[in-house]
Amino acid sequence: MSLAKRNAVVTGSTSGIGLAVVRALAKEGANVVLNGFGDAAEIEKERAAIETEFGVTAIYDSADMTRPEEIEAMIHNAEAKLGSVDILVNNAGIQFVSPIEDFPIEKWNQIIAIDLSSAFHTIRAATPGMKKRRWGRIVNTASAHSLVASPFKAAYVAAKHGIAGLNKVVALELATFGVTANCISPGYVWTPLVEKQIPDTMKARNLTREQVIDDVLLQAQPTKEFVTVDQIAALVLFLCSDAAAQITGSNISIDGGWTAG
Ligand code: NAD
Repeated sequence: MSLAKRNAVVTGSTSGIGLAVVRALAKEGANVVLNGFGDAAEIEKERAAIETEFGVTAIYDSADMTRPEEIEAMIHNAEAKLGSVDILVNNAGIQFVSPIEDFPIEKWNQIIAIDLSSAFHTIRAATPGMKKRRWGRIVNTASAHSLVASPFKAAYVAAKHGIAGLNKVVALELATFGVTANCISPGYVWTPLVEKQIPDTMKARNLTREQVIDDVLLQAQPTKEFVTVDQIAALVLFLCSDAAAQITGSNISIDGGWTAG
């Protein structure tokens, strides 16, 4: 498969899943927009490495996914600099773990903004161009938590269920325009997002670090293995291929069997 001449925006791609996805798209020849937070020098190193390794254009946009005007500007800047946005991967996300009665209101608002509303803003900005060119791929990184719940993750589970619903609407609206919209729903992937929630889960459930990993995280996953970021990137690439042209409105699990149970 070649994605040469395709242009891709991947939100939250300075780390973890997004970084693997952006590199995989560039490896197939797509020009890419990196987005997310982190150390400026590290991000620039990654951006430059993508250009030299894969011979594509890689742009970094620092848009904050809690700010609708920055999100809209990121899509329009990408269109201006690259010519189009053909592939949109809504991947930025954060997590917060707390019993609901203590769940900070600002954390609820931040998670709904980043994990759900940002996808509404990227999609509404990117779809006019995709419809006009009659080709597009929208991939939303949802989660096993778009299908099932876990305690202490009120905002995350609500946001991920929400993005699965948004995805269906978008798929139906764009079905006759050559644009597909799909969710991918990973189980636990070993990334900074998972690592960061271990201390709070230890506190919320009164467990040791090892107990959180074995009895909470991998407990949910029948394979007892973490999903890898490269496995997720491969699924995104498949959804961007012509072979996946009739897959739209789906929510594809990549969770070691978690949601089968
Ligand atoms: P990560 O923490 O490694 O990466 C998150 C990315 O989002 C980073 O690039 C970060 O800078 C960016 N980000 C955070 N807040 C932002 C903001 N306000 N504006 C712009 N960018 C912002 O996490 P990850 O595990 O790679 O998660 C990526 C996606 O995958 C998330 O949507 C997450 O919910 C989802 N997911 C992760 C797992 C897992 O086990 N790691 C499982 C299922 C779903």
